[in-house]
Amino acid sequence: MAVSSYIGRFAPSPTGPLHKGSLLAALASFLDARANDGQWLLRIEDLDPPREVPGAADRILRQLDQHGLHWDGPVLYQSSRLPAYQDALQQLSHRGLLYACDCNRTRLRTLGGCYDGSCRSNKINTAAANPSQSHAVRVQLPNPCSISLDDLIQGSLQFDLNKSGDFILWRRDQLPAYQLACSLDDAYQGISHVIRGSDLLDSTPRQMHLLQCLGIKIPQYAHIPVLSNAQGEKLSKQNHAPALNLHKAQANLLDCLELLGFSGPPELSKASIPQVLTWAIEHWQLNKIPPRDRVTESDKA
Ligand SMILES: [Zn+2]
Repeated sequence: MAVSSYIGRFAPSPTGPLHKGSLLAALASFLDARANDGQWLLRIEDLDPPREVPGAADRILRQLDQHGLHWDGPVLYQSSRLPAYQDALQQLSHRGLLYACDCNRTRLRTLGGCYDGSCRSNKINTAAANPSQSHAVRVQLPNPCSISLDDLIQGSLQFDLNKSGDFILWRRDQLPAYQLACSLDDAYQGISHVIRGSDLLDSTPRQMHLLQCLGIKIPQYAHIPVLSNAQGEKLSKQNHAPALNLHKAQANLLDCLELLGFSGPPELSKASIPQVLTWAIEHWQLNKIPPRDRVTESDKA
């Protein structure tokens, strides 16, 4: 039997337990991997200690397990990867692409989300992340910096990265930024397909640009609609999305399948979790997922 080169992943942050919106992303990436005879890896994005909740990582593992979403191999914790992030930063600094930004929050707020490059003259030419310094590290973008994304669900998209400006790779509080850690870890884990929520669609061209700068192969991306509440807000801890009810794991899966555009035969409602997942893997087709940025419970098939 041919070995599939497909490697997918789910990469939650341990800022709280999974809710139905995060299950939607976990399930979509799991099913796409399994339907392609691929591996499905798990990565815990624990790089933001101030936002983390003690015990949340273990709770997430248990929640996935109880929904039958079993991952392959060991779990990768980003907190174990700091030397790799620093290496990449150094590579970029040697190429003259990094600079120190000491703009304060008030100034950044007046810029309204488009950084103007005012600190570009503070080039960093040596080891970039020096914990004794209280500045952020930004990557200087070429101009123009246009990125084309062929999203497997949302279609062809074009981004002009200069619209939001040079972005941060290392935070002022001396933590690696999400864009750097996420893109490097996708490469490190050999991820071929990134299936995730459309709320990350803005991050994708930045991550593609970074991978390009580092000469690393860019994975395929597919952005699924995010689950929103009746007010149109993405379900999140901030708007008090409830943790998954583990006594309803099978129903949670069926709900998520419907939100993704897959409704099974009536007997599926009485099937076991492994049976539901087997049915879903057999019927999975990425192009059946609605190419929208959000879905709500009222959109169910
Ligand atoms: Zn600045």
